[in-house]
Formats: sequence, structure tokens, C-alpha cells
Amino acid sequence: MNFLCEKAIDEIEGIFTRGQYHKVLFVVDEDAYRACGADTALEPVLEHCLVSRFVGFELNPKLADIQRGIKESRELNPDVVVALGGGTAIDLGKLISSLSVQSTDARDVITGCEAITRKGPPLIAIPTTAGTGSEATHFAVAYVGGEKFSIADESLLPDYSIIDPQLTYSLPARITAATGLDALCQAIESIWAVAGTDKSTGFASEAVEIAVANIVQSVTEPTPASRMAMCRASHLAGQAINISKTTAPHALSYFMTSSDGIPHGIAVALTLGPMLTFNAGVRDSDCADPRGAEHVRRQIAIIVNLLGATNADEACERFAEIVSKIGCPCSLAEVGITTTDQLHKIVSSVNAQRMSNNPRKTTSTSLTKLLSEPFVRGSTIE
Ligand SMILES: [Zn+2]
Repeated sequence: MNFLCEKAIDEIEGIFTRGQYHKVLFVVDEDAYRACGADTALEPVLEHCLVSRFVGFELNPKLADIQRGIKESRELNPDVVVALGGGTAIDLGKLISSLSVQSTDARDVITGCEAITRKGPPLIAIPTTAGTGSEATHFAVAYVGGEKFSIADESLLPDYSIIDPQLTYSLPARITAATGLDALCQAIESIWAVAGTDKSTGFASEAVEIAVANIVQSVTEPTPASRMAMCRASHLAGQAINISKTTAPHALSYFMTSSDGIPHGIAVALTLGPMLTFNAGVRDSDCADPRGAEHVRRQIAIIVNLLGATNADEACERFAEIVSKIGCPCSLAEVGITTTDQLHKIVSSVNAQRMSNNPRKTTSTSLTKLLSEPFVRGSTIE
């Protein structure tokens, strides 16, 4: 069940009353909690419960933090898990809730050697950023020794999502920008994804339209209306990728995030434009979508139109303008990726399964060539 409106956080009391929840595992990003003001609504509810707070975790879910959370959860045996924060906190909430009730080892489930066989306690997701849309998806990201895994199971979808734009009011501009870009990129990728459907394209198109119209204002001069709009865009993009999953820009981003610490949304946006141009050039001979190149071109045309452009190159320019207006880097050189060796590491790190969801087939050679283009690199190859 989703609550998406101003003051949605006040729904927490009714959810607890109806569910008769008394033992709570609270997975919480403490800095976000203090800043966002959710404590005013949550603390009076938690006061009447036995609460274990899972705090102090690293950005981007790590195995060690997940294992620590599982231990804490097993000690408490909660009847509800509340996850509050950005994508990391919500993904941790999903994983800890679920993995604490599996009979198999957490590492084996994360790395795909074992399946999830039972559902964990109910999960209430409370995002404090308008970005990942994790509250609307049935998957979670986890890193094991620097390697990124995506865990997917229907039971990971939160039972309740409370999306309250007021919780995003205190976000600094750089986080609003990076998370907003994630939402926009997820929606664009969803439209061209091989696994996309009419339904996911519907969610994603609405998300792109809203994000394009509001992202700049939400970063530079945020208003309640632009904050609300970005929350809607982010949630719709989450609903879209819950069906379609993500594609090449996401696959290429994880290495930049885990090895160079580039914020997720920024890392994804760095290759979105080039992949748009690349995918627009699809032919039947290199089309990965069984519906054919004509179908892919129609989907690209939807994106081009939503970006207010008439062709793919112009759409790339529109996208770059948005990125630049919100103060984010537009080229690999701007984030310190300047050598061929660094490019090779990014390309060789890509997950083949996620790459197969890109509508135009790629090879290491075609990706390296694409990322070496001056407009992507921002400088000549060293
Ligand atoms: Zn993302």
C-alpha cells in the first residue's frame, strides 16, 4: 500500500495500530532522520514499542552491514521492519527483513547461489530522497567485496511505502540533483528496456515528463510543488523499473560508484546521453529486443519527444543541459576518468545480464569506442 502526499508520514500511526506492531526493527539513516523531521511523527509511535535501531551503516549496502542487521533482527524477532533514508536504507531494510528469516546463508542468497524461500516481517519503506524509487521495487542492491549484486524476489517489495515530499525539504542541492538524475535516468532506460511493457512505458513516460519539468527547480529553487513532483517522478520511475529493470547506463555505473565513489545518479547520467545516441542507431542485425528495431526506434522517439527534441542528438543535448543546470558533471573527465585503463575497467565490469536488457547489442569494443568519444570523455584519450 502506498501513501504519496504531503504529511503522508502521519499514516504511520494507523499502520502500526492496524498491524498491531509492537516489536520494531528500525533501519535508519540517522543523519537523514534528524534532518527530515520524520521523528515528530515516528517517535510517539515508537515510544510504545520495543525498538531495535539498526544504524551506522555504509553508503551502498555491504555484506558486513547486512550480516550485522540480520543478527540484530534475529535477536529481536520483530513483527515489523521500518526502513527510513535513501536507497541504501531501504535496500538494507528489504535484505535484513528477508534474509533474517531464510535458513540459508546471506552471502549465498546475495550471490545468487540460494533462493529466497520465505517472506520476512512486513516492511514499511520511508524514502527521504526523491530518487531510487526503491520503495516501489522488488529488488535490492548489495556489494560483496566490491562486486555488485542485484537480488530480486517478489517478497522484497515493501508492504507499505510512505512518500512524503516534506521529508525531502532539507536535502542539500547536490543530493537532490544526484537522486533526481537517478529517477530521470531510470525512467528513460525503462522506456527502451528489452523487458519493458506498455505498462512500464506508461509509468516511465509520466516520470520523464514530470522530472524534465521539475528537476531544475527542485535543485536550484525548491518549492513544495517541485519537491512533490520529484517524489512522484521518482516513485513512478520505481514502478516502471520494477517491471522493466534497468539497462546499459546502470550496468556501466556500478564500478564508478564502488571504486571511485561517484554518487549513483551522477554515475548513471554520465553514460545516459551516449547510450541514447547509440541505441537510436539500432538495426535489426544488432537489435536485442525480439520486437525488432522498429519497435526500439518507436520507444526512442517517445524519449526524444519527452525531452522536447526532434531527434536523438538533440535529445542528448537537452539531457546534457539539464545535467549542467543542476551543477552535475557532464563528462567522464570531469569525474577524474581520463585514462584508457580506467575506461577498460568500467567496460569489463559490466554485468552481462543487465546488458542483455539494453535494446541494442553491445560488445566491449563498441562500449569502449562509445565512451572514448570526445563528447563523452570531455578530453582526448591519454
Ligand atoms: Zn538507479
